[in-house]
Amino acid sequence: MIKITFLGTGTSQGIPMIGSTHPVCLSANSKDKRLRSSVLIETENLSFTIDCGPDFRQQMLKAQCERLDGVIFTHEHADHTAGIDDIRPYFFRQGDIPVFASARVIESLKKRFGYIFNSENKYPGAPSVKVSEIDKRSSFQLDVLKITPVEVMHNRLSVLGYRIGNFAYLTDVKTIASEEMEKLNDLDVLVLNC
Ligand SMILES: [Zn+2]
Repeated sequence: MIKITFLGTGTSQGIPMIGSTHPVCLSANSKDKRLRSSVLIETENLSFTIDCGPDFRQQMLKAQCERLDGVIFTHEHADHTAGIDDIRPYFFRQGDIPVFASARVIESLKKRFGYIFNSENKYPGAPSVKVSEIDKRSSFQLDVLKITPVEVMHNRLSVLGYRIGNFAYLTDVKTIASEEMEKLNDLDVLVLNC
């Protein structure tokens, strides 16, 4: 059994947007308070997130998540990656945090978060990660869980979604190739663009 917690389902700026007077942004309805997109996935032995956006700290506090066994990235845009510094409390307790991403996303993370991803730029207190490169051609394991990357296109940018058992999480989808669509056969739950 896996438990899915929606940490955020908002747009890249979050809802409400800073300074906006749009009725949705001024709304008192709790459904109009949406943090940046991410999910927490928990099994008996594991807890990990897909993406790690700028609201990560707030999201993990609310979810009362005590352990982080990995972060799996969909793509490099800031609304999916900018919270990576806040893995620090997990790093202090557990050591290097496993990170999974495509080669392109790893390159981008190395440029933008060199003090985390390049061992030569480390300063005291900086978090550290154990990086695994993944791609759409092969599934990978996180403990006993098999995770299958599914490529979708975010306009011209390739983004990875993930299938875990009969659950799949796809974000930032504009189009999907038919061979990738086949990976989504017989799902019970599909999360699409939340
Ligand atoms: Zn994006």
